[in-house]
Amino acid sequence: LLGGVGHNPKSAAERQNQKDKADRATHEQVLDNRTRETLQKLVNRGYFEVIAGCISTGKEANVYLAHPGTDTPSEPFPYPAAVAVKIYRTSILNFRARQKYIEGEHRFAGGYSSSKNARKLVRLWAEKELRNLRRLVQGGVRAPIVIEQRSNVLVMEFLGRDGVASPRLRDADLSNSKLARLYGELLVTMRRMYHSCQLVHADLSDYNVLYHDSHVYIIDVGQSVEHDHPRAFDFLRTDIRNVEEFFSKRSGGEVRTLGLRRAWSF
Ligand code: ADP
Ligand code: MN
Repeated sequence: LLGGVGHNPKSAAERQNQKDKADRATHEQVLDNRTRETLQKLVNRGYFEVIAGCISTGKEANVYLAHPGTDTPSEPFPYPAAVAVKIYRTSILNFRARQKYIEGEHRFAGGYSSSKNARKLVRLWAEKELRNLRRLVQGGVRAPIVIEQRSNVLVMEFLGRDGVASPRLRDADLSNSKLARLYGELLVTMRRMYHSCQLVHADLSDYNVLYHDSHVYIIDVGQSVEHDHPRAFDFLRTDIRNVEEFFSKRSGGEVRTLGLRRAWSF
């Protein structure tokens, strides 16, 4: 199953070797036994067959590229040629929950219930991201088509080409005229996200926007909130500020951003 994720230390230099060890530790951390079982179930149901590589290792999740076999689920149709598998970490939350537990009650240190609660929390997070992604796509916002979620694992459409993931906005090489166009597109996207999807991203920045097929795609929406959330406007302000700062700085001031008030009332 995870054949593609392994490394070949023999052919690597010493520094690479160390990096491999660290990567392997990262994969093992995220791939505990329960997660492996979840992945196996998804494989059995045809969502993907092999994990071909690691796209990203983050604080809260790792994202892998995976390929489906020939016997894929009937939906979505056509089934994508490659999928992104986002695996939420349970270990960090586990650890925190356990710490609290150890302090309070020594007899149950490292006990079962704390890790069970952590799993539940992570599962809820993954479910939320699934629902929010669906709402984006239904509301006409460019975002990966979400395919399936099971406990802490989310399967979605892979945004990329020939096994290479599309770059984050911050990593994309864009001319100023392209930047200007994408700034406009992202404003329309935020507006649509608010009015049609009734969501505020709440962690929007050049890290969580992919440049794919000459358009901006929204990702990482586990934390997104309803538009009537008590802090929705705080989050929205920060989102807009991040976006404006990115386009202004990246273009050396050539892309004239509207400023917070006007960006929101355009
Ligand atoms: P987190 O920031 O919590 O680790 P993200 O959802 O932002 O999780 O994903 C991490 C990275 O993985 C992204 O910055 C992006 O580069 C890549 N990625 C996420 N989803 C996809 C996808 N559907 N297709 C291609 N790359 C993706
Ligand atoms: Mn992210």
